[in-house]
Amino acid sequence: MSEADETFDFVIAANRLPVDRTEGPDGQIEWKRSPGGLVTAMDSVMRGRDGAWVGWTGEAGEAGEPFDDSGMHLHPVGLSAEEIRDYYEGFSNDTLWPIYHDVIVPATFHRRWWVAYERVNQRFAEELAKVAAQGAIVWVHDYQLQLVPALLRELRPDVRIGWFNHIPFPPVELFAQLPWRDRIIEGLTGADYLGFQREDDAWNFLRAARQLTGLKTKNDTVIVDGPSGRRVVRASGLPISVDFENLDALARSPQVQERAREIRESLGDPRVLMLGVDRLDYTKGIRHRLKAYGELLAQGDIAPPDVALIQVAVPSRERVEAYKHLKEEIEGTVGQINGDYSTVGASAVQYLHQSFDRAEMAAMYQAADVMLVTPLRDGMNLVAKEYVTCRHDERGALVLSEFTGAAQELSESYLHNPHDIQGLKRTIIRAIQDSEEEKGRRMTALRKVVREHDVQSWAARFLASLEAAPARPDDDD
Ligand code: UDP
Repeated sequence: MSEADETFDFVIAANRLPVDRTEGPDGQIEWKRSPGGLVTAMDSVMRGRDGAWVGWTGEAGEAGEPFDDSGMHLHPVGLSAEEIRDYYEGFSNDTLWPIYHDVIVPATFHRRWWVAYERVNQRFAEELAKVAAQGAIVWVHDYQLQLVPALLRELRPDVRIGWFNHIPFPPVELFAQLPWRDRIIEGLTGADYLGFQREDDAWNFLRAARQLTGLKTKNDTVIVDGPSGRRVVRASGLPISVDFENLDALARSPQVQERAREIRESLGDPRVLMLGVDRLDYTKGIRHRLKAYGELLAQGDIAPPDVALIQVAVPSRERVEAYKHLKEEIEGTVGQINGDYSTVGASAVQYLHQSFDRAEMAAMYQAADVMLVTPLRDGMNLVAKEYVTCRHDERGALVLSEFTGAAQELSESYLHNPHDIQGLKRTIIRAIQDSEEEKGRRMTALRKVVREHDVQSWAARFLASLEAAPARPDDDD
């Protein structure tokens, strides 16, 4: 049997494959594991299973043959340059992303984008139908693939389908703006189990299903009467997490600890080193953070070289208009703050428009006295959980926005509303000034939460919920 005909009992579908294409020194194609959180999360699920992963390679062109890498069977889905523009940059990142993140920037609607979204979701469903063995478990990820559950069920009613949303699910008032809202609900209810970051997201979905499509809901389930009878789809909150054990071990390694010392030294050993780590995205509240920081400098509450801020801003979605504006705005503000407050040899903001590997991230987390996480809306925010994981010394302070999924579990952090600049400034000052004892108490509590709810337990709980599906409607229904 050729690799292309092989089928698998466990299949993952995500927009991207877990590897990036690179060219070796002699021009040969090599695949490098991509660093993202989803890949790390799925590693533990894939271990010990002979599973397959269906996704896009990240480049325009034909799908190419399936291949094996990183212990997984990888099945590429091809996207044309036009589909990348319309399905990915357009509908996923410029229609769904803003609607699902509180319309922080306006969403753009184009019927052409929707057609591409449908077509690409159909292609994923067809590939999954080929790759999944009889009765297989198929785990679909994220907002780019919301039509896949129903499309796949139509092709393969025998498989068990789960879907997990890595981003928020919006309140019905915002979701209702989507011209294709019914189709999305219909797509999702093709699954047996739907996982969301927070219970509130699951409720938002259940409410949208009830109010916009007239489906009946009961407790945490939607009841779907289809051609093959009644199905019950469960939706619940299941916050994603980090690989605590591995990251903790990395942070404890002598190399990372030495690197953390080097980072502080290179900044002139500030008394307080603050850190921000984000994709350059308008959801992350980088503007609000810089506003608060700039005002604290202006008031003389803090000043370099006593205080320093490293802001990592990972390049993101640079072909989408809103992201181009954001980059200009952030870089303008950083320039202004540095012009006004840096001294010779001590910058007020170290701005790094780059991406770093895990070891360097761990060293930065270790070096930082105050971690600034200020999103206006974020499904989870793994950076917050990573920071806590890397603080085995039980020092440091996490300043965390209430509008992140992480805030629900990390209630011992320095919580704040980033829209309230005065409040954010007060919280930052408190995080700096609180006693080491108070910060230690908080960090101990935070680490306990992340240790006990790591990514392995998240994946195990998702699969247990999926395996327990389909739920039966209650007798009194
Ligand atoms: N990250 C990284 N290198 C960087 C900056 C970030 O590897 O230079 C990683 C970070 O460690 C985290 C992820 O990118 O695992 C960001 O996840 P998060 O949930 O915070 O935000 P997202 O980018 O998914 O919205």
